[in-house]
Amino acid sequence: MNVEDNNESKAKIHTEWELLKSECASCKKCELHKKRTNVVFGRGSEDADILFIGEGPGEDEDREGKPFVGRAGKLLDQVILALELPKSSYYIANIVKCRPPGNRDPKPEEAAACIPYLRRQTKILKPKILVCLGKVASQYIYNKDVKITKDRGKVIKQKGFIIIPTFHPAYLLRNESGKKYFWEDMLLVRKYLHEMSDKNEIR
Ligand code: SF4
Repeated sequence: MNVEDNNESKAKIHTEWELLKSECASCKKCELHKKRTNVVFGRGSEDADILFIGEGPGEDEDREGKPFVGRAGKLLDQVILALELPKSSYYIANIVKCRPPGNRDPKPEEAAACIPYLRRQTKILKPKILVCLGKVASQYIYNKDVKITKDRGKVIKQKGFIIIPTFHPAYLLRNESGKKYFWEDMLLVRKYLHEMSDKNEIR
């Protein structure tokens, strides 16, 4: 592909992305729209090879309109920084884009209404590695029967993705002992990213 074609294709992808974002901003497909302050579309690089997926926005995220900006998000950011993952390598989103009241899990019908947006984001981003943060994200992404304490750190190859389930950072704020496993899982994420980079399989 020559430079002109490449620029044209990037512009097309960006337009698609912006259209999707504005569709989400006015979405009322499930009950969660009623109490939201902001739709939380995601944050990170549009060239990401890693997509971190949580379950849904909390209070801070709802207020700021960005995912993982509260205490759990700060912990995630610290780990990403410690791993020296380039900013261009990851994007962060959730199963549902509006806050479930009281930080409850999203209901199945809410997840079913919202997940097509995440699918479309994934289709546009084309990440290679999906990191499921916690049980809820893992259930919706690859296995409804997942047991996160048992299944974290496994590497699932499905539909062209490498899927790595791990703990949700909010869980680690309550369970200090989980941090070392989370770190191990994140090292695995980095290892796959580096392996792909060595094989020129990533951007
Ligand atoms: S959670 Fe998703 S489907 Fe429900 S209103 Fe928000 S954007 Fe729409």
